[in-house]
Amino acid sequence: MTTNEELFARGLEVIPGGVNSPVRAFRSVGGTPYFVARASGAYVWDVEGRRYLDYVQSYGASILGHAHPVVIEAVREAALRGTTYGAPTEGEVRLAEEIVARVPGLEMVRLTSSGTEAAMSAVRLARGATGREKVVKFAGNYHGHSDALLAAGGSAIAEQGISGSAGVTEGAVADTIVAPYNVVPELDEQVAVVCVEPVAANMGLVAPAPGFLQGLREACDRVGALLLFDEVITGFRVARGGATALYGVTPDVWCFGKVVGGGLPIGAFGASRAVMENLAPLGPVYQAGTLSGNPLATAAGLAVLGQLDETAYGMLEGRAAELQTMLAPVFAEHDLAVQLPRVGPLLGLHFSGTPVTNFDEARHAADNGIYRRFFRAMLDRGVAFAPGPYEAAFPSLAHTWDDVERTVDLASAAAAEVAEALAAPTR
Ligand SMILES: *Cc1c(COP(=O)(O)O)cnc(C)c1O
Repeated sequence: MTTNEELFARGLEVIPGGVNSPVRAFRSVGGTPYFVARASGAYVWDVEGRRYLDYVQSYGASILGHAHPVVIEAVREAALRGTTYGAPTEGEVRLAEEIVARVPGLEMVRLTSSGTEAAMSAVRLARGATGREKVVKFAGNYHGHSDALLAAGGSAIAEQGISGSAGVTEGAVADTIVAPYNVVPELDEQVAVVCVEPVAANMGLVAPAPGFLQGLREACDRVGALLLFDEVITGFRVARGGATALYGVTPDVWCFGKVVGGGLPIGAFGASRAVMENLAPLGPVYQAGTLSGNPLATAAGLAVLGQLDETAYGMLEGRAAELQTMLAPVFAEHDLAVQLPRVGPLLGLHFSGTPVTNFDEARHAADNGIYRRFFRAMLDRGVAFAPGPYEAAFPSLAHTWDDVERTVDLASAAAAEVAEALAAPTR
């Protein structure tokens, strides 16, 4: 039998850190990553046959749970007709129609192959449309790994304990201004675009403070800057129309990813017709992609969105709410100070005595090392949370009430173990 250790050792020889995305290397939680052999619904199995109740769900890409039969069938059927053509397809048009129909104010989209590409292209579009150069982003928000947007990024870049990345020139970030989350920044007329995660989900989960998103809308309007909602996580997850619908604040530019590809590589960015018409071939802003609008990804995306009606959102939110409600006393019982913020079906876990509202506070909570201990205690018990303190938990539609209850029972044992370890004088 192949073991996780073996695969990791082999991976380390040929892939930096043994992984293709840094958080997967388990550097901030320690130990060997589990190598997934297969997954179904709420569960993944590693190559050693161990089963984990999975709250990673590909960082939100799998909202229906893994290997949902409707998605698998759609992908299978699409694959039989060919996997990519370099010519337009009906699937792209249908997915674009579906996205536009769901998100209030959105008129046109273009599909990409990742959220990174979507955010990078959206910023280029905003600069092209406004003729301005400055980009404002918020510390702890993550907009993918393009040069200009990496500064003070959340997610795995935060775990590195660096404010950006080597290899990004000063020139590339000279026009990027980083502001603290949840405070409306002063803008001037050099600002092309203000990029924000309308619900921050890459520094743990941090909800927008009341009035924050509306304040950004007004600040952008005052100086003629565009407002960009990065809905790569929140899109089609926190509500049918994403955070835009949930908060009733309409940005000028959006980006999407994760949920909308049903587990296949996808991204999308969009805006009003007037803004989108700046894109090639209609306008001077260039953007392209060999695999953009890939037929497998559009088929999977359509299949997923087809399952996401109001009932589905009610169920998703119900499970996350149950988890939140039942987990709180479990931590309290063991005197572990914890914040369990929730926005719709998104759940956060910060080991902090006070609410977390920005990146400094998120980092402070992450630095106490309790997340790492809790993560390990849960993983030992067969429950997989994200292997880093800056990610959210993603209960899926496949998580049953029984799964939620089991999570809570196991969390109780894990919290006891963590509390005991923290109390031990030798540690
Ligand atoms: C994941 C994520 C991205 C990047 O998407 P990729 O598909 O990983 O390139 C961008 N923005 C947000 C908010 C994300 O969570």
